[in-house]
Amino acid sequence: MSDVIVSKFGSAAFSTPEMIKKAAEIVMSNPDRKFVVVSAPGAASREDMKITDMLFIMNARYNNRENFDEMMTKIRDRFTGITRSIGVNCYIDAEIMNLKKNLFFGRGNDYVVSRGEYIMAKIFAEYIGWEFIDAADFIFFSKDGTLDLDRTFAAAEKVFANTEHAVIPGFYGSAGANTIKLFPRGGADITAAIVARAVKATLCEKWSETTKIYSADPGIVDNPEVIRQITYEELKQLTYMGINIFHEDVILLMQNIDIPISVRNINDTDDLGTSVTAELPPDSKRGVAACIAGKRNYRIIHIQKFGLNRLTGIGTKVFAIFTDRNISCEHYMSGIYRFSIVVKNPLFDLKRAEILAALNDAIKPEDITVEKNLSLITVVGKGMGTVKGIFAKMFNAIAEAGIKVRMIEQGSDDLNIIIGVYDDDYEATVRALYGAMILH
Ligand code: ASP
Repeated sequence: MSDVIVSKFGSAAFSTPEMIKKAAEIVMSNPDRKFVVVSAPGAASREDMKITDMLFIMNARYNNRENFDEMMTKIRDRFTGITRSIGVNCYIDAEIMNLKKNLFFGRGNDYVVSRGEYIMAKIFAEYIGWEFIDAADFIFFSKDGTLDLDRTFAAAEKVFANTEHAVIPGFYGSAGANTIKLFPRGGADITAAIVARAVKATLCEKWSETTKIYSADPGIVDNPEVIRQITYEELKQLTYMGINIFHEDVILLMQNIDIPISVRNINDTDDLGTSVTAELPPDSKRGVAACIAGKRNYRIIHIQKFGLNRLTGIGTKVFAIFTDRNISCEHYMSGIYRFSIVVKNPLFDLKRAEILAALNDAIKPEDITVEKNLSLITVVGKGMGTVKGIFAKMFNAIAEAGIKVRMIEQGSDDLNIIIGVYDDDYEATVRALYGAMILH
């Protein structure tokens, strides 16, 4: 059986006629690329805006009875400019008239915004001579607003059963008769995952203008290595640390359907990018650590009480106090007479007095102290915790850099080791760990 690739192109791929031509060349350069998922055009220049953002604004203006015509004209002109430059016969005026009519009929924000991908997918389909398939024909939301995966998968399989090639607009689906619903921002990736499953793809590609998944922040480490191979589980860890290559829902979906993802850069097609799979391939040359990622500005709240070890329900009480205030406890540590919680700032500082009073009330501690300016740095790597000598390697590097460690946590899922240092040492720690764990 031959390979089937679903290629999703982000908004940058449709920002200018040159980029659209590049995207088409990429699609045509490999006959296995059979399905393309399209985003709405990105900003064509610095002064310009993404079509998706323009549509959001236009709809808001219409709802506020402000002048929306100017924005609609801009949107029309962007699309007309694209079709003229790439020489495609698409009736943009008719599409825009239709959009206006539906705006007046009150089809709502999501319908209006979805037209960015809808029109772009029609143009691209025409340009490369492939069939256009509307996402609303096979992506369905339930009444409660969640994606109805069973219905979607069943419908998608039918729709794609006899299709050899197609272009599909990303970012939306149907929420019942005449109702369109959007995915969260960046959601064209979700569409790609659904299509990939329906066509039994062997690979799902994500093409964007800038994305490279680095093994450390290039702002801290000079020319860090690009991660060539990473597992879904490891990628989720990066998402938690704020490296948002994919929406979490996409990783979960791709992991469930077990289709490898390849993250590629439109402007560097020779670079094979990053491949995301369930397990590293047996011939992988990657070290045990995939990446060093971190964040600054955490607080540790230490609750000190003699006899704490003999009390029950302390954790429940402490967590409830934070939960009631919508503050997530990122990590916790316990000593014999101490219970410590790590939380993100500035959320904590906003409610600091109230939280400390509640903790005093509930636990009656001898002392509560708040340590400031903590950074958490994660070394991500599946199975790291079971590799001999890994801690020695990490802490030698940190000691050599003269850094004081404030906290250590080995993730129970064996996907990471987290080190807490003071904010001032953040960058030096990232560099030390990069040298020890990634460069080996
Ligand atoms: N165009 C949408 C956005 O800007 C969806 C996407 O590009 O994935 O969020």
